[in-house]
Amino acid sequence: MRMPHSAVTDLGGANAPDPIRDRLLPIEPDVRDIARELYARVAIAPIISPHGHVPAALLAEDAPFEEPTSLLLARDHYIHRVLHAEGVDLSEVTGEQVNPRRAWRLLGRHFHTLHGTASSYWLQDQLRTVFGVDQALTEASADDIYARVSTLLAKPEYRPRALFERFDIAVLATTDDPLDDLAAHERLRADSSFTGRVVPTFRPDAYIDAQGQGFVSAATRLLGATGQESTFSGYLAALRERRAYFVDRGAVSLDVGVVDAFTVDLTSSEAETIFQRILRGSATADERRAFRGHAVLQLAGMCLDDGLTMTLHAGVFRNHSPQTLTRYGPDMGHDIPTAVTFTEPLKPLLDRFGLDPRLRLILFCIDELAYSREIAPLAGFYPSIFVGAPWWFLDAPDSLLRWRSGVTEIAGFYRTSGFIDDTRAFLSIPSRHDVARRVDAAFLARYVSQGRLRAAEAERIIDDTVDAIPRRAFGLS
Ligand SMILES: [Zn+2]
Repeated sequence: MRMPHSAVTDLGGANAPDPIRDRLLPIEPDVRDIARELYARVAIAPIISPHGHVPAALLAEDAPFEEPTSLLLARDHYIHRVLHAEGVDLSEVTGEQVNPRRAWRLLGRHFHTLHGTASSYWLQDQLRTVFGVDQALTEASADDIYARVSTLLAKPEYRPRALFERFDIAVLATTDDPLDDLAAHERLRADSSFTGRVVPTFRPDAYIDAQGQGFVSAATRLLGATGQESTFSGYLAALRERRAYFVDRGAVSLDVGVVDAFTVDLTSSEAETIFQRILRGSATADERRAFRGHAVLQLAGMCLDDGLTMTLHAGVFRNHSPQTLTRYGPDMGHDIPTAVTFTEPLKPLLDRFGLDPRLRLILFCIDELAYSREIAPLAGFYPSIFVGAPWWFLDAPDSLLRWRSGVTEIAGFYRTSGFIDDTRAFLSIPSRHDVARRVDAAFLARYVSQGRLRAAEAERIIDDTVDAIPRRAFGLS
């Protein structure tokens, strides 16, 4: 059972607002009361996390977390980017050479510059709810907090599996390379002492992005691993084979990350010609782009047969700073959103498969206007399309509220995907889902107080946002 957030223990009690208990709830007393009741219904509901980046090996090995910096700072590129903007050298907070105590102190010194961001909220929420730290994180308190968290991490109840149970995670999806043997997933499934549900996700980006540097070697490895011949139909058969491998091991979705949502429907001879030109190194930039657009369309078509949900994450300019990429590699906080469209670029895919009830396609971007301008109207017509939850930079309280305001009047609540934490930071999962639950309670409370929904209707909706809605979008039984 998940340890309740401190906020839950005395819900329904005094009307006086409490900044911890009532965080993110409305400030008007009458609306706040409605929101408190709605939030109480879902506050400790099991967590469905159908898309994220926590590796299965973390749970398969169940090794103790080492210390606070490697757990809470060294891999969090949401924090790195703000520290970097403040002039902190990234090598001081991440990488092989990091001195953990000094890095944590550095975080304390600069923590005020993160205030107002979702990262500050999540980190403080984790320190409070997971480790019982009520102190503000500053340079002066950093050593004390480091010591307290270190002591707790050495205890058995702070190991990954114990926390998985405490967080009450009903489903956790990982994200995996198509050629991964999924051995960690196998070990978890075979281990009778672990009863959690951890499912793989097929992430084929490197095998479809013919504009990317490593495409030819990735495609060659894919063909080699599956014993398929070097033709476009062999390539499609190889992708199908690896998807089946994932489905056999519990996968419910494939996740495609692309710079834009471009799709194109090529004839098989056009696709074959372009594929051969790419393998020989003679394809033009347009042909490489066409290949990627056609591969996305083909991957959507395969969902009709194998039942996977397809999530499409579009509109991020990754590794924006070449110097930072050279020195530190990817995922260092220099991925920057771009404006993105869906209505026109997805048309070839939707013309082929959009009306087929077997397709479930969830659209994500970091462009707020695209959600209300294009994604919600698409999801409000096509049975195959779902509005993805606010992602990455938009996964923050005010952005979540704006997203609800932007899409609900067009597509309602039931054409959405349910909340997705999309995190690499295991300990932040409950905090992120809790934010979404509070924001939804606040949003629905306004509808109830304005006479737009009956209380019972809002109750059903909030119950469904944490269970029926994500289960349907991801085909989770
Ligand atoms: Zn993701």
